[in-house]
Amino acid sequence: MQRLDDLFDDVAATARPHAKRGRVADYIPALAGADPDRFGLAMAGLDGQENATGDADVGFPIQSLSKLFALVLAMQRLGSERGVSEEIWQRVGREPSGDPFNSLVQLEHERGIPRNPMINAGALVIADLLLEHCSDPIESLLELLGELAGEAVAIDESVAAAEEATSQRNRAMGHLMAAFGNLNHPLDAVLDVYNRQCAITMTARQLARASRFLADDGIDPASGREILSGPLARRVMAVMLTCGTYDAAGDFAFSVGLPCKSGVAGGILAVAPDHSGICVWSPPLDAAGNSVAGRVALHELAERLGLSIF
Ligand code: GLN
Repeated sequence: MQRLDDLFDDVAATARPHAKRGRVADYIPALAGADPDRFGLAMAGLDGQENATGDADVGFPIQSLSKLFALVLAMQRLGSERGVSEEIWQRVGREPSGDPFNSLVQLEHERGIPRNPMINAGALVIADLLLEHCSDPIESLLELLGELAGEAVAIDESVAAAEEATSQRNRAMGHLMAAFGNLNHPLDAVLDVYNRQCAITMTARQLARASRFLADDGIDPASGREILSGPLARRVMAVMLTCGTYDAAGDFAFSVGLPCKSGVAGGILAVAPDHSGICVWSPPLDAAGNSVAGRVALHELAERLGLSIF
């Protein structure tokens, strides 16, 4: 059998050229200036083994990957499954939206209840919940990510400021949800949490480690600590699979076959149950906002290692 390191290099060589088909996000300078040739891939196994290739140790803004961990933090704070369903799922759905991550259209028809926590509107509701249940939501999120990554992680303040300066659309969503009574805190406070969570910088290797607990039924294999109960970890993965890559979620299920979450800086997280956490990073995006080469890499890796859940 091919050595895993060689297989990773092979997957990278196959995926990298596809970046040419994408475009880097350009709504803030930090993303517009990203090097389109960057490519990193990392896998953190439940047995502690790590495999990585390319720029797996170069930091990038996690952007919407933070939505996954904010949801996990909200679930931790709310505790029981019953508390979770009462507080979270009354205020945000768990259906794919079939629309771009920053779309406003469904919010009006659906009376301020976002389709799911993986799109911007849903993440704003989760940020609102965190303000209720954490004295400092961003501090708690950084703590959780640092624990899972095994290394301290931090915010890129220039990205946070740029997010704030370009937040008109998210602000519009917030106003609409507040008008429907689905935000309990001042919008500026909610947006501040959201903008700062998007600006957390991490590497593909750190993110692979950070998602690994989902593959282990909610237990972080590094510490043995239960991050989420098994049932809640499975629900998070279900939401990732159906909603984590926006209106390409069906296609990701089809071609990759793993629960995934993408971000606009070009990162994609994937969880291979009972096996590993995986993260790929390549900045150029497709029309749905998912990394083009990242998606090819995950397809190749899942195929070659037989990781699909189907
Ligand atoms: N900061 C981005 C936004 O709010 C995050 C979206 C994403 O990563 N898809 O639009």
